[in-house]
Amino acid sequence: MQGFRFDSVELPLGVPELRAELRRFLVRELGALPARERANSWARFDAEFSRKLGARGWVGMVWPNRYGGHERSALERYVVIEELLAAGAPVGAHWISDRQIGPGILRYGSESQRRRWLPGMAAGEVHACIGMSEPGAGSDLAAVRTRATRVDGGWRIRGQKIWTTHAQRCQLMVALVRTREPEADRRAGLSQFLIELDHPAIRIRPIVDLAGEDHFAEVFFDDAFVSDEALLGPEGDGWRQVTSELSLERSGPERYLSSFALFVELLRHAGPLPDAPLAAAIGRMTAQLWTLRQMSLSVAGQLSQGLDPVVEAAVVKDLGNAFEQELPRVIQALLGDELGPADEHELVRALAYLLQVAPSFSLRGGTREILRGIVARGLGLR
Ligand SMILES: Cc1cc2nc3c(=O)[nH]c(=O)nc-3n(C[C@H](O)[C@H](O)[C@H](O)COP(=O)(O)OP(=O)(O)OC[C@H]3O[C@@H](n4cnc5c(N)ncnc54)[C@H](O)[C@@H]3O)c2cc1C
Repeated sequence: MQGFRFDSVELPLGVPELRAELRRFLVRELGALPARERANSWARFDAEFSRKLGARGWVGMVWPNRYGGHERSALERYVVIEELLAAGAPVGAHWISDRQIGPGILRYGSESQRRRWLPGMAAGEVHACIGMSEPGAGSDLAAVRTRATRVDGGWRIRGQKIWTTHAQRCQLMVALVRTREPEADRRAGLSQFLIELDHPAIRIRPIVDLAGEDHFAEVFFDDAFVSDEALLGPEGDGWRQVTSELSLERSGPERYLSSFALFVELLRHAGPLPDAPLAAAIGRMTAQLWTLRQMSLSVAGQLSQGLDPVVEAAVVKDLGNAFEQELPRVIQALLGDELGPADEHELVRALAYLLQVAPSFSLRGGTREILRGIVARGLGLR
């Protein structure tokens, strides 16, 4: 049976200075932002904040200079994104472009696609979203039915995407669509397109969640014409492209830090001498957090060596999501009646918000059951 590989990673020289510079910037920019606003911060879209990060070279950090990048190492990028999330910075506008769409264009895109899209993304000014899920295709992604039909000079796209994070605020979608009828192998005949969303035949309808926020949307394509230049890589390459991006998508610090702002607020509330049960709980949570961080960093190290640790990335996401989902429940059970109404207490405001949104943490980016299936397959158990 194959095991997991979580080698420890040495951070590059210069990281303490980078961390210190970023922390000074974040203190200045975020000021006294309440914990409720810092929680789940990679879902928060703030175009101006992303532009400021881009201007400082903290978006597209690992991309080549000629496409607006900064040729820094993947581990330096890791330090930047963990600092941003730990501080609760609103990074949602550029997060997806920086994490996977930019790297996807770099890897599979034509020279003109790279030149067209990457500099704007690295500047934190071009925002992109992922168009994979559809009403009948979530975990079973190969069931996508949105169809691109070849026409003179390009393609006509018809169908619907759903749960597309920030589609209503983005300029670009990378959409997985069917370019050929399904065959015995349904993964064949799928392709990805770079679709500009400001298009007369595309309609976007925001979806409001339980917490009253509209951070995702439905997107309808009514025979939207796109040119040949919109196709990413060769026709039929879509499945390979989306599956090779999954390790990037699943192993980062956003998979265990979504409730971190609440943890910080708990420490503030507990003070220097918490009672024994609270101290024990804080110790347990700290140990879990640190272990997850080491595992996530280890995956980042493997990715930076050109490996594709699919199974390890799935383990990080599954355990990380379990941690960030459990944290609000543990804190609720610990403090219970001790806390007053939400409008009087920052800790309760953050807790109430996270209790509402945390169930989604183990859905976005692949559900718990799907991840465990990947792990089982990787271990040779199925
Ligand atoms: C906050 C949020 C943001 C999102 N953003 C995006 C986005 O930007 N772009 C995008 O394309 N999608 C996005 N999604 C969609 C997300 O990827 C899907 O919700 C997810 O893949 C699950 O698909 P589904 O909702 O269709 O559920 P289903 O696939 O219908 O699953 C329903 C339940 O059945 C279980 N299940 C399904 N198949 C199996 C199986 N084979 N074995 C065992 N159990 C199974 C699942 O684990 C789940 O519990 C987002 C979702 C959320 C919650």
